[in-house]
Amino acid sequence: MKYLLSFLVLCASSTFVNAQHLTCATPPGKSEWLKAYQANPSAYKVDPNTMLYVAATNHIVGTNSGSGYFRPDFLLESFCQLNKDFLPSNIQLYMSFPINYIDSTGWFQHSTVPEGADMMNANNVPNTINSYFVSDPIGAAGYNLPHADGVAIATSATGTGDHTWTHEIGHNLSVQHTFLGWENTNYVFGSPTPTEVYYDYTLFKDTLILDTIIIDTALVEMVPRTNCAAAADGFCDTPADYLAYRWPCDSDSLSLVVQKDPNNVQFYSDGTNYMSYAFDQCQNKFTPEQTAAMRANLMSEKPGTIAPQSPVTGPVNQPTTLLFPIGGEDVQFDGTYLQWSSVPNASHYIVQINRLPTFPGSQMLVNQIVTDTFIYVTTLNNNWTFHWKVLPFNLVHTCEPFGTVETFNTTTLTTIGEASTVDQWSVTPSLCEIGKQVTVSLEHSSSLEALLSVYTLSGTKVFEEKARVEAGNTEIKMATDQWSSGMYLVTLDTENGRAIKKLVLTD
Ligand SMILES: [Zn+2]
Repeated sequence: MKYLLSFLVLCASSTFVNAQHLTCATPPGKSEWLKAYQANPSAYKVDPNTMLYVAATNHIVGTNSGSGYFRPDFLLESFCQLNKDFLPSNIQLYMSFPINYIDSTGWFQHSTVPEGADMMNANNVPNTINSYFVSDPIGAAGYNLPHADGVAIATSATGTGDHTWTHEIGHNLSVQHTFLGWENTNYVFGSPTPTEVYYDYTLFKDTLILDTIIIDTALVEMVPRTNCAAAADGFCDTPADYLAYRWPCDSDSLSLVVQKDPNNVQFYSDGTNYMSYAFDQCQNKFTPEQTAAMRANLMSEKPGTIAPQSPVTGPVNQPTTLLFPIGGEDVQFDGTYLQWSSVPNASHYIVQINRLPTFPGSQMLVNQIVTDTFIYVTTLNNNWTFHWKVLPFNLVHTCEPFGTVETFNTTTLTTIGEASTVDQWSVTPSLCEIGKQVTVSLEHSSSLEALLSVYTLSGTKVFEEKARVEAGNTEIKMATDQWSSGMYLVTLDTENGRAIKKLVLTD
């Protein structure tokens, strides 16, 4: 190792082709832990078959005025990709709620590592993996900071098919680039390939020492597996790779660029590895040695992040059914419920309301995560048609897509508006002690069939009665002694439509 004591300009800025092909800014630098692990992996006994559920806190950074946030539905989509990528390693991250929203223009677009470290040191939640979604993390797609123990991700480097988050969490769990040592060094085929390369990892060490530039030496990996345990990333199942820029691959996921090792053995880089710089569409795996190291790192360095058992009851793989309002129903513009059915294993839902059926971001009125099967909206304009849809998820499973889109119209509901079901109806008392009787009164000018139902907020039906409403006044009595305290929705369906009222039960 060479230590150069001085205070110099640290980095030349890189030129990036476009946002899709941004590099990861994390230079190499094996942690002391990884060096010890690779010296004797068998000392770390980790059952490869146990699923490790790892707590993950997501921080969404916006500007000082609270704009520019990474959208919650895009976060879920990216989290789905992350967990798909980690599933073969028997590692699943689970979301630690709440999502932490941070308003800071300086962190939203930061150009130096110490600024990113400040952000992490000020906001990290202990015993979780901390990820920060920002607009610009020092001009890169993302990076991992060992000394601040967090990863920063550019919101442009997210979504289905993007493995940037996977790559950075790989770093966070100790795994290094397959091309370790070549960062900031251009491989040149026409020159003899050196046996050593040098790199600066001052800003990415376990401990940040700002007034010392630390240049380390890496052995260049040979194509035959002669020095694989000592060279580059230290894993023998990741082949030689010298490409430290984002590169395209052929149909076999190999680099188009030919390289030769120090003994002039020619090779192409393997683009399938998440820790290479191949384009995202080439990548599809961690190797068994990388997986073993990440699992050992979790068990020995981050045991507090691991849940003692699965934090969820199972996968979420059914869509929701939208219950109200549907089919263009009229609702009160400045205060209406939206209700949907609960889905097995779902603990959360994301609800979107949009002006257009294609749900463009510019026309999004509501894009909200809730734990109920129901929201109350007060912010919609009058005399508009809206489209809405719901996606169910839980802390681990966020891959179920949005369900069917339904529509409703906002209006001013008067007594005439209520005539969409009956002329008048009431629920009394609307705030009721458990055990007392609730009376639903229906008043209509002619006779008609009605269906009265009561739902919990999680969508479970607790009461249903068909009634023949006679001209004049009809009463339906409901016993509440078997119900628990909380809010209920009383729905009334007739040939004219549906109306909903609130009922609250108290102990
Ligand atoms: Zn990286």
